[in-house]
Amino acid sequence: MTSETNTILVTGAAGQIGSELVPALRKLFGNERVVASDVVQPEAKLLESGPFERLDVTSRQELAQIIKKYGIKTIYHLAAILSATGEKNPQKAWEVNINGLYNVLEASRELGVKQVFCPSSIAVFGPATPRIKTPQDTILSPTTMYGVTKVAGEHLCDYYVKKYGLDVRGCRFPGIISNETLPGGGTTDYAVAIFYEAIIYKKYTCFLKPETRLPMMYMPDCLKSIIQLMQADFSRLKHHSNFNVTAMSFSAEELAAEIKKHIPDFEIHYQPDFRQAIADSWPESIDDSAAREEWDWQPEYDLARMTEDMLRVLSEKKNQGKLKYQK
Ligand code: NAD
Repeated sequence: MTSETNTILVTGAAGQIGSELVPALRKLFGNERVVASDVVQPEAKLLESGPFERLDVTSRQELAQIIKKYGIKTIYHLAAILSATGEKNPQKAWEVNINGLYNVLEASRELGVKQVFCPSSIAVFGPATPRIKTPQDTILSPTTMYGVTKVAGEHLCDYYVKKYGLDVRGCRFPGIISNETLPGGGTTDYAVAIFYEAIIYKKYTCFLKPETRLPMMYMPDCLKSIIQLMQADFSRLKHHSNFNVTAMSFSAEELAAEIKKHIPDFEIHYQPDFRQAIADSWPESIDDSAAREEWDWQPEYDLARMTEDMLRVLSEKKNQGKLKYQK
């Protein structure tokens, strides 16, 4: 789709991914063409750089009004309740993740939206799934409400592709590591918190066991995957809403060892909580060959490069008095 015809809506824009995807899209398509929306107020940077609308995705009416007002043609649907928060309030996770997505798909069908991006997650997998190099097409039997909503969401998105010809695309993201907005209640959040606490306190207490290994991705690769998948030639895609993507896999102790290379007196302690059971049900590593074949996916950041960059960016923010962190 050309920039002349494309007007974009991002839901959940104040969150970890949205707060960085909106500026990336505004850079690509122009500030006025990218409408950010969320139930919460985003940071000033996002508000000042282009349009923002308060939008609760569980309200079809609010959603329809905004699509009509701006003539939206593409939606990046990021509004969701993540795994750990979802286990505390499964009813809300269903309401936002399923009813919100249904509203987005139905409103898109009715109002002429051409393309939708909806992220899935490694939470679609479960204890019965092969945990190492988890294949693209495999057993999906999650144990969390978040995972249940993501499996149903993938099927719902694929249904709209087949039934209505709506161009819906999505990746199963692993844990996303970033330094702009803190993550919103997932099981991989430790891999972000550890960097902030290494910089601020030189110690961190991890809510997963040292040997727990999970797939992860640095935000620049996450943004690259979203933009690349959305720009891919539709005719090359055999999958649509459920691409496995990954960049690296590491355990908590391996991440701590990498941080220690830069901060030798960094200390880590372990106090596993309810999130350990969630992590234990997820893969250790992911086979993302379908994404590589169908839209040339290729990550740029491994553990060493990501760690170096995270510590550099957070140290700079600390030196400038701009490091915001809440335990
Ligand atoms: P986040 O929790 O940081 O942000 C989600 C945003 O959605 C929040 O700003 C929240 O206010 C908003 N929201 C919640 N309920 C809403 C509603 N009813 N209406 C409108 N907005 C609402 O999450 P994120 O990390 O930015 O995740 C974005 C997407 O990526 C989600 O679909 C998530 O499942 C997926 N994902 C994220 C990760 C990760 O590690 N961050 C991994 C896998 C998949």
